[in-house]
Amino acid sequence: MSTCILVVEDEEKLARFIELELIHEGYEVDKAFDGRVALEMATSKAYDLILLDIMLPGLNGLEVLRRLGKDNPTPVILLTARDAVMDKVAGLDAGAVDYITKPFAIEELLARIRVALKMHNKMINLGNQDNAPMGQTEEGIYKWNSLVLDDRKHRVTVGGQEISLTNREFLMLKTLLENLDIVLSRDTLLEKVCGYDYVGETNVVDVYIRFLRTKIDETFGLKMIQTVRGVGYVIKSE
Ligand code: CA
Repeated sequence: MSTCILVVEDEEKLARFIELELIHEGYEVDKAFDGRVALEMATSKAYDLILLDIMLPGLNGLEVLRRLGKDNPTPVILLTARDAVMDKVAGLDAGAVDYITKPFAIEELLARIRVALKMHNKMINLGNQDNAPMGQTEEGIYKWNSLVLDDRKHRVTVGGQEISLTNREFLMLKTLLENLDIVLSRDTLLEKVCGYDYVGETNVVDVYIRFLRTKIDETFGLKMIQTVRGVGYVIKSE
């Protein structure tokens, strides 16, 4: 079965160029020049990867990404303009796996596509292998998906690969895993992680969550820590 990529780019020449290169690499390609059309195509066919320009007519790329939703299983690589830092941040927050800045060398784009596809396949395999129960399985051992937190050894692994966490990141993760399916407020997390006598901003919690997401969710393509708007954070037992 061949790998099918949806290229969403309104500059038709560029879209055609990317299409030819991708076909040359053995991929199957569909093209969309408009955000609305792209969204329709992406929701009606299971693509292996979506290459998504941000500046689009109809619906911009970030909006397409948001409407695809956090549970969209297809990896998305964004095409962004130079210096559009906020777009990149917003794009990664909305679930894109990577971005590439225009103008780019086609070789770099092809390399990023290979990496994104490889990561995605690895995730699927990890997900299929791991039918282990979640939550605390024995004293001091917490499991979620392919992640294991061993409190006694102060060690966290995902699919057997060790992740280096600071003390506070570790505590934050452990607290969330101890309270699987329970939404914890920023205040609760702050107390657990920084202690009752911590004086400072509660947004340090958001900072540690962000670090954890970068180290775990983004690296391994997981959606572990969920934000509950206006309340706090939770890890759900899926
Ligand atoms: Ca464009």
